[in-house]
Amino acid sequence: MRVVVLGAGFGGLELAARLSEELGAAADVVLIDGADAFIMGFSKLDVMFGRTDAAAVRHPYSAIDKPGVRFVQTVIRAIDPAARRVETDAGAFEADALVVALGADLDPAATPGLTEAGIDFYTPAGAFAAREVLERFDGGRVVVGVTSTPFKCPPAPSETALLVHDLLTRRGVRDRSEVALAMPLPSPVPPAPSASHSLLDAFAERDIEWHPGTLVRGLDPRRRVALLEGGGEMPFDLFLGVPVHRVPAVVAESGMCVDGWIPVDPLTLETAYPGVYAVGDVTSVGTPKAGVFSERQAAVVADRLVALQRGEEPGATYDGTGVCYVEYGGDRVGRVEVTFRSGEAPTGTFDAPSEALAAGKREFGTSRARRWFGREWSAF
Ligand SMILES: Cc1cc2nc3c(=O)[nH]c(=O)nc-3n(C[C@H](O)[C@H](O)[C@H](O)COP(=O)(O)OP(=O)(O)OC[C@H]3O[C@@H](n4cnc5c(N)ncnc54)[C@H](O)[C@@H]3O)c2cc1C
Repeated sequence: MRVVVLGAGFGGLELAARLSEELGAAADVVLIDGADAFIMGFSKLDVMFGRTDAAAVRHPYSAIDKPGVRFVQTVIRAIDPAARRVETDAGAFEADALVVALGADLDPAATPGLTEAGIDFYTPAGAFAAREVLERFDGGRVVVGVTSTPFKCPPAPSETALLVHDLLTRRGVRDRSEVALAMPLPSPVPPAPSASHSLLDAFAERDIEWHPGTLVRGLDPRRRVALLEGGGEMPFDLFLGVPVHRVPAVVAESGMCVDGWIPVDPLTLETAYPGVYAVGDVTSVGTPKAGVFSERQAAVVADRLVALQRGEEPGATYDGTGVCYVEYGGDRVGRVEVTFRSGEAPTGTFDAPSEALAAGKREFGTSRARRWFGREWSAF
């Protein structure tokens, strides 16, 4: 069975690794990505806050060396889900099983004023640029703001506000600065009230302003104010923004999307097209957009494909669970475990921040680099 995996992010990498692990050389996997290297989401924050540098967080795809897996670096130009066929700059690929794991594209230019007057810290280029600005920042009002929903890794803006506080304190400019966090959500981590309480306490202890239910629709570069949905304004000296998210254009043009994202069966990750699956940020599966969810969805698809290949009835289903680490600064990290099941209210548990969990987060990254790229790596 020829499996063509579109996108080598958290989802695509895990899918290819698991199929190779189970089927060895009998796996017939083509893994396609337009980039030459993978960067974990949280590595952007590590670079932005000076714990490591941009070159150290890249995992070149040329290191992928797995039985039955061929990595092709090329841009996907068209997807025909009915024919399970894709057109790329390296030619056409046809699949018995096609898996779309193309993630969410980020569009800083979609928010008026953001590229002129603010910094998006979600793209690698934006996060790396933010580092230089933060290193030179001489004090003033920093606003961390979100420009649209849904957005990846919902705890990341909270982490960023806490890490900004930490950095400005270390640099000796915190006492002449303000830090504000504007989020469209009613609480920092809605499915896990204990995590939200802990973060709200942390904001209060550090004098970080918390603005729930607040969406930034644009920036006025001349007056240096953020323009809020509903008409309010928020002044800033430094604006760190989460840009608009949308499916990659090639996915939008494929006809697979409903309301902007690919709908899937929440248990099997099957799309409306036979033999076509979608995992991760590109879907509307109902979980937050985060690597841990993409990875777990990919594992389910892999197990189902392995069963099909062996002539068995696929039994694996997705349980909606994911574990997210939350940076508090000072090398302390909290841990949230959340479960999103279709038709049920999401639930979550929280482990208070500690240095042990910070080590656990680093091990999370190390284990993925080892598993997917065969390399020994530590986040910092
Ligand atoms: C600041 C920040 C912090 C984060 N922290 C965490 C965290 O701590 N934990 C966590 O779980 N998640 C975190 N995330 C979120 C996480 O990075 C994403 O949710 C995750 O990468 C999604 O995985 P995916 O496989 O769905 O898509 P992606 O990892 O985005 O992979 C999609 C791939 O598709 C490729 N692609 C897209 N279009 C094309 C095309 N036309 N042709 C060829 N290739 C294409 C891209 O190059 C990309 O490699 C964070 C994100 C950010 C921005």
